[in-house]
Amino acid sequence: MSAAIIDGKAFAARVRGEVAEGVARLRAGAGITPGLAVVLVGEDPASQVYVRNKGAQTREAGMASFEHRLADDTTEADLLALIARLNADPAVHGILVQLPLPAHIEADAVINAIDPAKDVDGFTISNVGLLATGQKAMVPCTPLGCLLMLRDHLGELSGLNAVVVGRSNIVGKPMAQLLLAENCTVTLAHSRTRDLPEVCRRADILVAAVGRPEMIRGDWVKPGATVIDVGINRVERDGRTRLVGDVDYAAAEAVAGAITPVPGGVGPMTIACLLANTLTAACRAHGLPEPA
Ligand code: NDP
Repeated sequence: MSAAIIDGKAFAARVRGEVAEGVARLRAGAGITPGLAVVLVGEDPASQVYVRNKGAQTREAGMASFEHRLADDTTEADLLALIARLNADPAVHGILVQLPLPAHIEADAVINAIDPAKDVDGFTISNVGLLATGQKAMVPCTPLGCLLMLRDHLGELSGLNAVVVGRSNIVGKPMAQLLLAENCTVTLAHSRTRDLPEVCRRADILVAAVGRPEMIRGDWVKPGATVIDVGINRVERDGRTRLVGDVDYAAAEAVAGAITPVPGGVGPMTIACLLANTLTAACRAHGLPEPA
């Protein structure tokens, strides 16, 4: 039996639709238009595509999109001055600084300069601490998207064994925190983990966030497990560039109970969650009830 395919594209469209309804209600009821500012420094081609997509989807949801494209040689001081202006701007409810930043800028200093209430990526130490201690936080978009798909597919997650492969600050660590908050028994694996295949085989929920094409093999997957593939890797195959995940999809699909495809799985959910976080930030800024 092959796995159920978790359709992130369709789910994300649903989430974006709900956000658009929430935005329309906020505008009609309180005269507030949520605004998202996206800051891009430099010419990284992948980042340019992400920023373009974020801007287009922000506008489609009825929100205001403020794009700030800065030259590669922008100083850290100038970038911090822009963040300070955005923090003070009442039309801006969410601020996102596209990563990676050029090497001469200290990313942590820039991220932590963002007002935590406008930190729709959930990367400031304040939001990281709130999430880790079970308080109301802005939750990073990619792991939030993964959690929504897991809840939608599995319902109750309590007591399940969850293995997250990858411990980055933007995906692996917050994913582990979210699953812990759902009462999963969480293992956070990384490049020094011993016998990773055996660790993965214990997982009822397996989240792969490594950045290595098709590293997780089919026989690492427990029969019936739910597999969430965060990886986005460009590979050359048959003379064409293709996107593949961190999981060997064809092999895992034959064993898993459910699996997210790449593309069309986690990716679309990330931007949908960014829009949802921006709406939430706008509601919180005005002391209004948050969308469910
Ligand atoms: P990072 O490079 O920051 O982290 C990768 C993690 O994988 C590290 O913790 C590293 O361990 C671990 N790792 C590397 N090699 C191995 C190995 N052989 N065995 C076990 N663990 C290993 O990556 P990100 O978290 O930023 O991204 C991960 C993937 O997710 C990438 O493909 C990225 O493109 C994708 N991504 C997708 C998003 C989406 O919207 N769908 C959003 C963000 C990322 P260690 O810490 O020990 O070095």
